[in-house]
Amino acid sequence: MRSDSKVAGRLAPALVLAAALLSAAGVRTARTQGERPAYLDPARPLEARVEDLLSRMTVEEKVALVHADNRFSTAAAPRLQIPQRQLSDGPHGVREETVGRDVSQAVGRTDDFATFMPALVGLAATWNTGLAGAYGATLGEEARRRGKQIMLAPGMNIMRTPLNGRNFEYLGEDPFLVSRMVVPYIRGEQAQEVASCAKHFVANDQEFERNTINVEMDERALREIYLPPFRAAVEEAGVLTVMSAYNKFRGTYCSESDYLLNKILKDEWGFKGLVVSDWNAVHSTRGSVLGGLDLEMGTVGKPFDEFYLARPFLEGVRKGEFPMSVLDDKARRNLRAMFATRAFDGHATPGSINTKEHQSVARRVAEESFVLLKNDSDALPLNTEKLTSVAVIGENAVRLQAYGGGSARIKAFYEVAPLEGILRRVGERVNVTYSAGYGEKSGADAAERAVRAARQADVVVYVGGLNHTLGLDSEGADRKDLKLPYAQDELLVRIVEANPRTIVVLLGGGPVEMGPWLSRAPAVLYAWYPGMEGGNALARVLFGDASPSGKLPFTFPARLEDSPAHALGAYPGKGGTVRYAEGLLVGYRWFDAKKLAPLFPFGHGLSYTHFEYSNLRLVEGKDAKGPTLAVTFDLTNAGDREAAEVAQVYVGDLKSSLPRPSKELKGFAKIFLKPGERNTVTIALSRDAFAFYDPARPGWVAERGDFRVTVGASSRDAKLEGNFTLAQTTVGK
Ligand code: BGC
Repeated sequence: MRSDSKVAGRLAPALVLAAALLSAAGVRTARTQGERPAYLDPARPLEARVEDLLSRMTVEEKVALVHADNRFSTAAAPRLQIPQRQLSDGPHGVREETVGRDVSQAVGRTDDFATFMPALVGLAATWNTGLAGAYGATLGEEARRRGKQIMLAPGMNIMRTPLNGRNFEYLGEDPFLVSRMVVPYIRGEQAQEVASCAKHFVANDQEFERNTINVEMDERALREIYLPPFRAAVEEAGVLTVMSAYNKFRGTYCSESDYLLNKILKDEWGFKGLVVSDWNAVHSTRGSVLGGLDLEMGTVGKPFDEFYLARPFLEGVRKGEFPMSVLDDKARRNLRAMFATRAFDGHATPGSINTKEHQSVARRVAEESFVLLKNDSDALPLNTEKLTSVAVIGENAVRLQAYGGGSARIKAFYEVAPLEGILRRVGERVNVTYSAGYGEKSGADAAERAVRAARQADVVVYVGGLNHTLGLDSEGADRKDLKLPYAQDELLVRIVEANPRTIVVLLGGGPVEMGPWLSRAPAVLYAWYPGMEGGNALARVLFGDASPSGKLPFTFPARLEDSPAHALGAYPGKGGTVRYAEGLLVGYRWFDAKKLAPLFPFGHGLSYTHFEYSNLRLVEGKDAKGPTLAVTFDLTNAGDREAAEVAQVYVGDLKSSLPRPSKELKGFAKIFLKPGERNTVTIALSRDAFAFYDPARPGWVAERGDFRVTVGASSRDAKLEGNFTLAQTTVGK
């Protein structure tokens, strides 16, 4: 670890003297006047505090702010009371403490457990922006308690391929949905005086060759598909930090990309916070200094003070290779995030962990995330009064998921697995058996036993799917195909044959093929990685205490080859480059354009009740940005159970000067209704809902002419439709 004196020893004597005089002057003024320095006064405006502190800092102290002093921290500067700063993963809870550089070595502490939230893809499936806020707030409260200033999440890369090993950590295929969910998450977390981190900026959409792959895409795809969540995080949520991605973009590493970091993020969007590198994603001093990186973390094979943004940067500044203003800008950005998270002031309250409220958020997110893909003849919910036996089958019924997946892993306070949740819910009256059926180590015997158990029970609850093994839903590798692992297809064919009352529950972060058994399984529920309350939430939904209300945040293709990147041979790239040949046609946009039937469409999800949509009204208006449209309709719960519906608004431009997807999600609302209850729902669309990016202008163009507005229960289940005419073309930012 570096000490201040060691760095000072390498300084040119004149600089040391000047720095010493400066800082002594600062200290003397404060002392003689008996005042604390301005930057330590919480009552002063943040920018004034930043400038005051910056003016007191030596060049070494500034450089110390822009690189790590350990795997997840940056150095303190005791002279100025600059504290050590702690960063932590991640998306689903505050990660455990690890020893030094080696993350695989846990400290083995007893005070670093965390609430384990459902995976982000499940949060996306709730389509509940309020829950996203509660999710972020929960993480923030726990991070504050654990002394973290920066939480390295949420990940907001777009699901371009169903095979991406990290899809479970992201929020699906649609930029609008992702944006609407990450904004409240970040606001919720940052309101707890903890910085969020929008990652991975940008186009880290596959794990295959992630450290070197060069991504080529056209400007419209960049602007319309991949950037919007980051832009919303910056402009709407005021995210304090952004993580640059591992990959290259148009030939340049993202951590050195002047175009992405300086031009778009900082100049165009006005981002004032810091850009942190992904761990071991920095490749040069010059590139990252000038390319807009503000904090280097995780570089492998170098002592911390030899990081690209450590001594080599310091020397470059001293030699005049880099202007002091560049270092000042980086230091400023780091300080801003520190002041904004009260790093110098302390928190009024310490934060909290594992509260009843946190557990309840984890359970509610899980419960609202489950997507009922299929439910023939009301196979679900199950009624305990009418059952005497349930055969629970499948390794995911007992597998704990918290500790897997890579950097998103969590040391959970507890984790209620599906079997445990079911046992708790059904009580003594119902006989529950368990057999794994499949698993990494199970053989034919296990399958045999499971089939026998299936035959003997009233009902089978099969809990299978994917897990966090490398090569499934895990950082560091992509999936090879869409097949269920461990011969589950074969097993399921036999189980549905043995017992037609088989409820299939699948865990996972992305689509899977269901060819051989789907037509014979009456009910399929997709349950993601549902966090530490997952088993309880699952039991509530299976046994009808709550109706499922999740909707798919991505398309389930019937076959991998139907997915755009795969149909076009545009994954995983050749010769180190992947070209996004599908352009704008990601996910449902492609299936619409090619008139392909997906296995389950984007936005799909059934309920135990049914909803009626009626009485569409489109009311035009105006705001500062231009024309607006209020989409109003009535929604009725026409069934006999309390439930929630996610109503979705899609907009299609009937004629446009540049090609556009036939429709795109531009609004949604999750509405809770009692049996028989009717609500009038209004979803407001701004000018942005009609605009596309025109690289020639450049700008966002809302073109005059007709648009179709569809209100639906999914992207393929239109309930109400109307047309709307924009009288004038407007161009905006
Ligand atoms: C991941 C990041 C994570 C970082 C620190 C990297 O491998 O890509 O998402 O925040 O490690 O653990």
